[in-house]
Amino acid sequence: VPLPEKATHQQTRAFNAQLVLRTIYDRPAISRADVARLTGLTRTSVSALVAELLDSGLVQEVGRGQSTGGKAPILLRVVPDARHVVGLDLGGGSFTGAIVDLRGRIVRSAERPLRADDGRQPLELVFSLVDELVGAAQRPVLGIGIGTPGLIDSETGTVRWAVNLDWSELPLGDLIAERTGLPVHVANDSHAAALAEYTFGSEPSPDNLVVVMIGRGIGAGIVLNGQLFSGDAFGAGEIGHTTVVEAGEPCRCGSVGCLETVASVRAIVDRLRHLAPRHPGSILARDPDGIDETRAVQAFLAGDPLADDVVLEAARQVGRALAALVGALNVRRIVVVGAATAFGDRWLEAARHETRERSLPLLGRDTEVVFGRSRDDVVVLGASALLMTRELGLSLVR
Ligand SMILES: [Zn+2]
Repeated sequence: VPLPEKATHQQTRAFNAQLVLRTIYDRPAISRADVARLTGLTRTSVSALVAELLDSGLVQEVGRGQSTGGKAPILLRVVPDARHVVGLDLGGGSFTGAIVDLRGRIVRSAERPLRADDGRQPLELVFSLVDELVGAAQRPVLGIGIGTPGLIDSETGTVRWAVNLDWSELPLGDLIAERTGLPVHVANDSHAAALAEYTFGSEPSPDNLVVVMIGRGIGAGIVLNGQLFSGDAFGAGEIGHTTVVEAGEPCRCGSVGCLETVASVRAIVDRLRHLAPRHPGSILARDPDGIDETRAVQAFLAGDPLADDVVLEAARQVGRALAALVGALNVRRIVVVGAATAFGDRWLEAARHETRERSLPLLGRDTEVVFGRSRDDVVVLGASALLMTRELGLSLVR
């Protein structure tokens, strides 16, 4: 966050404190003199700000560095366990969450299965997950970061519309802040995943990156010039509800033939259940009603012809959507995360091939479509990264 032009003394001090903390955080260990040199602040200011950081426990002194003639300088580092962050992922078939330290290490995880027949409202499940994690934290909790599907106003923490959870204009951030007394930041789950991949993915991170999350739903997070791009109404990357089949299957959003209805993992399972009885040669024909994500993946990996047809067609549909993104953004690196990654290399190759086939050759040729590095915990880490950026001005670095 840049400093306003007519900053008050307090704003300047807070800005400088974040600058000093970030400078220490970004390095394994550093002296006060080097912090002053790198930030352009005076040694006196740096000493005063470091004293506060030492008092707060965020920073500690860790021995002495190399002498450059005089006495060897005392080195400083950020204490990874000084604060903990709670990160939540409300996107899957279960709500998951974790306590995460300041280096993105997961200290403890928790989960609440989301069952339609449970009778409990999804919001109560979120509360119970938050209560468990905040209650279990062994360190002061800095705040709670949440990644959730749907259109999220991440400035106010309001869920504008989340079709899978039947939430509309829900002030999720405020509700949890009131309950816990902690700062809460909420973002779309694909956007959170993009933050995590940008932070922890390949090194060095490219300036531009598209992260496509394919699980029960489909969405993308777009990083342009090193910044998450939210769009005019926080809906950037909502590719899952673009129509791809005329007069197709009804979608949860009220429309028909959306990308989600043909290419999400849920759509693959539904389609296999529907087709299996008519394909006696398929290993899935024995128990069509018992087909779930795990069995769909097993059948595909075993080379079952029915699973092949359905899964590879889903991958090609994803590739067509990616080609549209390549044409619109010319981003060279596209990272796929979420449950669909379980389908492995043949799924990826089909999506990649279709992306290139349907793009301008010169652009498609240079586009790489790859699986993300972090998989299950990508949204939890992204939500934690968001919280740390907003609360401490730190870009989470492991
Ligand atoms: Zn839809």
